[in-house]
Amino acid sequence: MGLDDDAREYHRRDPPGKLEVSTTKPTNTQRDLSLAYSPGVAAPCLDIADETDRGYEYTAKGNLVGVVSDGSAVLGLGDIGPLASKPVMEGKGVLFKRFADIDVFDLELETDSLDSFVDRVAAMEPTFGGVNLEDIAAPACFEAESRLRDRMDVPVFHDDQHGTAIITGAALLNAADIVEKDLADLEVVFSGAGAAATATAKFYTSLGVPAEQITMCDIDGVITPERADEGDPHDHVAQFATDADAVGGTDLADAIGGADVFVGLSVGGIVSPEMVRSMADDPVIFAMANPDPEIAYDDAKEARDDTVIVATGRSDYPNQVNNVLCFPFVFRGALDARARNITEGMKVAAAEALAELAREDVPDGVRRAYGDQPLEFGPEYVIPKPLDERVLFEVAPAVAEAAVDEGVARRDLDRDGYVRELED
Ligand code: NAP
Ligand code: MG
Repeated sequence: MGLDDDAREYHRRDPPGKLEVSTTKPTNTQRDLSLAYSPGVAAPCLDIADETDRGYEYTAKGNLVGVVSDGSAVLGLGDIGPLASKPVMEGKGVLFKRFADIDVFDLELETDSLDSFVDRVAAMEPTFGGVNLEDIAAPACFEAESRLRDRMDVPVFHDDQHGTAIITGAALLNAADIVEKDLADLEVVFSGAGAAATATAKFYTSLGVPAEQITMCDIDGVITPERADEGDPHDHVAQFATDADAVGGTDLADAIGGADVFVGLSVGGIVSPEMVRSMADDPVIFAMANPDPEIAYDDAKEARDDTVIVATGRSDYPNQVNNVLCFPFVFRGALDARARNITEGMKVAAAEALAELAREDVPDGVRRAYGDQPLEFGPEYVIPKPLDERVLFEVAPAVAEAAVDEGVARRDLDRDGYVRELED
């Protein structure tokens, strides 16, 4: 059987789907039941009514994330609707559980407007310690997230935007180090101006790349001030609008000439070896369109003789950018700090922790899990691997600590104590 049939069988096997709810307290005696439910349950209820934060003490809220989608931009499958997105959202729940022991309710919402989507998600704040927005089309995803962040007192994180930004941010920190360039000097060209590209470009400015050195291209080429003024494309990319004269034309091929870094979050096969040859010395190429990158890993590597650092979304090549390297651990840290928000500082802390971990020696167990891939800091290994258990112990504490420093934590954590807590 091929992968498709295997996947159908995997999902269909009894019980259908991939998640279930289970209880965490004894339920064997009459007394257990009177504690779990009425009348005993009244005591914690009244405590929470008295002091809201005790919700974290008495309920599953603090380890529960809502994975919420409207099904409008599911994987590379497009607008397939909420129910058809449920296998993906359940799958996200599997990853949260497997990598960070976080429980998930997956919520696929049928809504007729952005207002109604936002109202429904915001109304669920009491239930969750955090909300992971998933597979929502641009530009609605920007407004949905920003309105929910304003309204909700728990973290709201659109993974397709920020997960990608954080991981490629870590890759950028290490790639710049390897080719001995400062982030402040990098000329960066993006192909794609959607959810992932926009958030990634913004995040790179938080890491120190000046916005004026970032050029964005979409299907119609370079986003120029003229196009931004006309409202095409969405206004979130206006800050990256670049004069066509400054980059020598309005095509991606013009913009990429002389660039230090290419970031592809668009469609496969649109970058040629000639375009790679036109880039600056020791170029960095993050070609992340799925399933086929903007340029194949080997084609980019072979296009020239100097150092070419390549990352893709592909598991069969080095430097796979896979969102599971980020979201479980960012949420782990945010939940454990009982954070009200995931701030820019927390995202930067996550990227720095990932970048630093990639510079450490890799344990043998991790090497074995990844076959013969070269896992030694250098062009073929700029970000850690998701199955490396050290990721949890580096990223979650970095995020939790940043939450405390940024004043969004409900709980004060000392790093060593928290790492011991994670180990248990
Ligand atoms: P999105 O919001 O739909 O954005 C896609 C962007 O690509 C749009 O700006 C679109 O422009 C542009 N585009 C389409 N065809 C193009 C072309 N021929 N040349 C240049 N730009 C073109 O999607 P997204 O969520 O940001 O994801 C974009 C891609 O990145 C997908 O392939 C996704 O799988 C991949 N991705 C990979 C990872 C990963 O590897 N971890 C993470 C996130 C995303 P128009 O709007 O003008 O059509
Ligand atoms: Mg997604």
